[in-house]
Amino acid sequence: MREVTAYATPGPKAPFAKTTIERRDLGPKDVMIKIAYAGICHSDIHTAHNDWGEAMFPLVPGHEIAGTVEAVGSQAGKYSEGDRVGVGCMVDSCRECENCEAGEEQYCIPGMVDTYNAIGKDGEPTRGGYSTHIVVDEDFVVGIPEGIGLDVAAPLLCAGITLYSPLNHWNAGPGKQVAIVGMGGLGHMGVKIAHAMGAEVTVLSQTLNKEQDGRKLGADHFHATSDKSTFKQLRGRFDLIVNTVSATLPIDRYLSLLRVDGTMVNVGAPPEPLPVQVFSLIGGRKSFAGSAIGGIRETQEMLNFCAEHGIGAEIEVISGDEIDQAWERVLNSDVRYRFVIDTATF
Ligand code: NAP
Ligand code: ZN
Repeated sequence: MREVTAYATPGPKAPFAKTTIERRDLGPKDVMIKIAYAGICHSDIHTAHNDWGEAMFPLVPGHEIAGTVEAVGSQAGKYSEGDRVGVGCMVDSCRECENCEAGEEQYCIPGMVDTYNAIGKDGEPTRGGYSTHIVVDEDFVVGIPEGIGLDVAAPLLCAGITLYSPLNHWNAGPGKQVAIVGMGGLGHMGVKIAHAMGAEVTVLSQTLNKEQDGRKLGADHFHATSDKSTFKQLRGRFDLIVNTVSATLPIDRYLSLLRVDGTMVNVGAPPEPLPVQVFSLIGGRKSFAGSAIGGIRETQEMLNFCAEHGIGAEIEVISGDEIDQAWERVLNSDVRYRFVIDTATF
């Protein structure tokens, strides 16, 4: 066991405090990663606030991890000391079910092992990236290409892949009209990636406050959902709508923006159910779908795609003692566009 520094929250809505946690000894296929940066995902907040069920406290969140390899196990061959690597939302899976075999470990039938707030295969609670080091099986570690800074790469490990995967699956590309709903951590990555894939991109944000930024990131159009004329004007427009919003929305209004055979895919994960009228789907053979992160192979593909297109996250770097304020700002939709914790400040 090795004691490392981390920031933990002791209970729902309780402030973070610096603490020490234990990381397991290196197993034969393990990699010890010195974490440089950890992104703050809205899922960290949902988890700590018990939005999705009872969390296990003390909680060390963080599933957007970027750093360098410090040591490798005796039979680990994928990475060497000094390599730039990342870890996302999962650190293991059953590896045997059809989804794991297909490289979609995020849909592991018995269930993937989450990077934090789960019980690992060693029977110990998993603890995430708000810490200086983490030990992860090499099969759940990805390589961060040269050319992407570790700070702007960290958010790609969750926000990046969560948008890349559905955009890829539903064929965002030239000639496709894609709408991104909510321009926060996930949404802003969606704008960049959909634009790089060649789609015509529209942002649907609560207000026009982020319009200038949105256009800089690659949006062709930007509309406020608080403006009633938006829904009239964009009726029947989109092939694909990706909803990244962390709260419930009047879904039927958004479904009216799809063209025939269009899909609205939800990646936002609000605690309350989303209301859908079946007539909103019948009238246009529309699909209402969901998507979770992406598999390890696709995560590596996404990182390579981002390196090729010069894509990183728009970030605000904070120190360990600023996590509480950052969470408050995320809750107020006041993030531009991802907070990243610099673990050198621990
Ligand atoms: P975030 O940075 O807080 O962004 C969410 C954005 O949604 C906000 O910036 C805001 O954008 C909009 N929004 C927030 N509250 C709203 C409301 N009441 N009504 C309308 N719009 C609202 O959060 P995030 O980190 O991107 O995460 C977004 C959601 O995705 C969370 O629920 C998270 O748990 C989930 N998530 C899912 C996956 C997955 O695999 N499916 C992975 C990661 C995260 P505007 O200011 O532009 O309106
Ligand atoms: Zn996340």
